[in-house]
Amino acid sequence: MRFDAIAESHKRSLISIEEKGRRSEIFGINVFNEERMLQYLTKDAYDHVKTAIFTGAKIDRKIADQVAEAMKAWAISLGTTHYTHWFQPLTGSTAEKHDAFFDLLPNGKALEKFGGGQLVQQEPDASSFPSGGIRNTFEARGYTAWDPSSPAFIYGTTLCIPTVFVAYTGEALDNKAPLLRALHAVDEAATAVAKYFDKNVSKVHATLGWEQEYFLVDKALAYSRPDIIMTGRTMVGHIPAKGQQLDDHYFGVIPNRVLSFMSDLEKECIKIGIPVKTRHNEVAPNQFELAPVFEEANLAVDHNLLLMDVMEKIADKHHFKVLFHEKPFAGINGSGKHSNWSLATDTGVNLLSPGSTPMKNLQFLTFFVNTIKAVDTYQELLRSSTASASNDHRLGASEAPPAIMSVFIGDQLSAVLDELEGVSQGKLSPKEKTDLKLNVVGKIPEILLDNTDRNRTSPFAFTGNKFEMRGVGSKTNCAKPMTILNTIVAKQLKDFKKEVDVLVDKKNLKKDEAVFNVLREYIKTSKRIRFDGDGYSEEWEKEAQRRKLSNNKTTPEALKVLTSKESLALFKAMKVMSEVEIKARKDVELEDYIFRIQIEGRVLGQLMYNHIIPTAIEYQNKLIKNVIGIKEIYGAAHKTITDGQLAIIEQIGEHVNEIKKKTDLMIEARKRANVLKNTEKKAFAYCDNVKPFFTEIRYRCDKLELLVDDQLWPLTKYRELLFVK
Ligand code: ADP
Ligand code: MG
Repeated sequence: MRFDAIAESHKRSLISIEEKGRRSEIFGINVFNEERMLQYLTKDAYDHVKTAIFTGAKIDRKIADQVAEAMKAWAISLGTTHYTHWFQPLTGSTAEKHDAFFDLLPNGKALEKFGGGQLVQQEPDASSFPSGGIRNTFEARGYTAWDPSSPAFIYGTTLCIPTVFVAYTGEALDNKAPLLRALHAVDEAATAVAKYFDKNVSKVHATLGWEQEYFLVDKALAYSRPDIIMTGRTMVGHIPAKGQQLDDHYFGVIPNRVLSFMSDLEKECIKIGIPVKTRHNEVAPNQFELAPVFEEANLAVDHNLLLMDVMEKIADKHHFKVLFHEKPFAGINGSGKHSNWSLATDTGVNLLSPGSTPMKNLQFLTFFVNTIKAVDTYQELLRSSTASASNDHRLGASEAPPAIMSVFIGDQLSAVLDELEGVSQGKLSPKEKTDLKLNVVGKIPEILLDNTDRNRTSPFAFTGNKFEMRGVGSKTNCAKPMTILNTIVAKQLKDFKKEVDVLVDKKNLKKDEAVFNVLREYIKTSKRIRFDGDGYSEEWEKEAQRRKLSNNKTTPEALKVLTSKESLALFKAMKVMSEVEIKARKDVELEDYIFRIQIEGRVLGQLMYNHIIPTAIEYQNKLIKNVIGIKEIYGAAHKTITDGQLAIIEQIGEHVNEIKKKTDLMIEARKRANVLKNTEKKAFAYCDNVKPFFTEIRYRCDKLELLVDDQLWPLTKYRELLFVK
């Protein structure tokens, strides 16, 4: 009964807030957040949940029962009928299986039921998700387990409970479990280091602010293109006369129809607690961006996945299809998901933000230099986290950073690191110390934001108080890059602490001296990863090779490092992934790659045989008939009149021939790839032997598009797809 009164007043306030529509007032109204927990839970239950969130400890069954009862009361009061464990299988998107609260008692009486058992753990029998062999469908089953650190929310008429998805044998079958482990590792390592500077720090959390780019296409037109529907991108299509060369779309006036979609979307997002903030047109026609206020990384990842899902639903209502593919159209920019990352303490300090005192700046430098060092040591791993069949089109195509990892820090900080590099080793004289603190560390301005140049070509850029990872693709689940980034930084900080402690304990150095000493070594040994120039240039590729930086251009190449001895040791030491888990993940990623290229190959083959070749021949026949007719009328004098037609007939013939030849070769290459048993070899075969034909076939097809009668052309053209009003 207690719940009824709360729910009633909550509902009343919701109605009035919805009418008012002010965003700050409707923010999170459909989330079982802090405010709701305080209202609905006893003090004891509330404290338990908060402790569990803070420490990662298990919530006992009695408390879980209380929480479930409260969630149910709240959800039902808002018209919710079902609940679901919401999880992230290795497909890259999210999954859900709805169950009704409705249940029957043995006496046939109906009631609404939802207990701690259902909240804490479920067995979705989701045996068809990729598991990389961890889970044979007939043995180990998988279960989902409640993640209390990401609050439950109501979407539509369903209560969604964020969960991890693991096998009964304990291995993670999803992207969230390893992320949570990586976040725990970075918390432990960063807290220990942050304590050097402030004893009061007891927790560090990673923050993530993603920027989601996407395309909108009219739904009906999108459905007219088999390639968009099957592969998420156009596999053929000549670029329109006007693309993005006039830069008239970027930050331009948002078209009315799009604005109305965005408003609806934002309202939905705000209700379920996604703090959306920024919206604007992007560089390419029909390309847009949405960015929220940054949040704790696990929550931010959940919110990004949720956003993508909500976006598709709202787009559908507005008769749009949203394209998350990294390169839906050739000849214009593709889409990314810049991932801004930092570390924040429970005392409210951003560890990558310079402060007002030399001590605060030394803390900043410590985290700054350690991050750079981690990226240098584990550059290939970080690169692997952004690899996918679709993102291969974007990285290194002079619109997004190259596959080479480097770190941009700007002139000012480069100068600071250069000076630090010159500091003498071992004990420092009082004068040296003062000099260092006042003239080097003390010189770092508190606000760097305006001084850090926005070098758009860098894959890992420092932007004043955070690093921005720019290689992440628009479709990618940020859990992957965030798992790797936080794991490598955790490992680096742990090593750093060990080294500093040895200098303090064994060499009698003061703590700040020891910190300077170790940082100086790191600055020296990670120098090659720093690059402030043009990442798109050919010179950089050559220079990077001289510096022995990795340049893994394709997905199969990029994924190789996952199972190297060093990687396996890293994931084990940081307790992020076991050997079985990492091997399984690599397999799943490779298979995903193979399937996507395979599907693209099939779609392209069908488009050529069933759409393009018949259309080209139809038009060619029209021309042939025309030539024959003219010849009949004019006899020998026909030649000057039919020269043009004959030339086109020949051109069409040549393109059709080439298309047929290349399509057949592509199909042959696919057959050869398909019989390979080894997944890695198969992925390389698809990458090296099948994919190259796509470009050749497309080239011919796009030429035909320019020749053939517009009325006959069977595919909706770029100019029709790309200029939504
Ligand atoms: P842009 O990179 O587009 O010029 P900003 O630099 O203002 O824009 O910020 C980009 C994104 O960085 C925003 O979405 C914001 O949420 C995120 N961000 C800002 N501070 C942090 C932080 N400390 N941790 C993580 N993300 C952050
Ligand atoms: Mg940005």
